[in-house]
Amino acid sequence: MAGQMICTNCGHVGKPKRITKGSIIVELGLWICFLLPGLIYSIWRLSSRYDGCPKCEYPNMISITSPVAQKLFNQLYPNTTDPGTAAPS
Ligand SMILES: [Zn+2]
Repeated sequence: MAGQMICTNCGHVGKPKRITKGSIIVELGLWICFLLPGLIYSIWRLSSRYDGCPKCEYPNMISITSPVAQKLFNQLYPNTTDPGTAAPS
């Protein structure tokens, strides 16, 4: 249960995933064809990287132990007491 996070968007329970926007293909293409846009694109991708929900990629996951998460969890999974085993992974 420790370290588990709940998604406030879809209710998925689990560990957040590191999400990077854009694509490595575009990044490489830009680097090869145009140096400066490639650099800008790389910086943008690094700065927009975030930890989000592995299911819907929503950036706002909160710790399952927080009061808000507990309330949300009880609404979503009323028959389950242990958040660690609630959601299929
Ligand atoms: Zn989600």
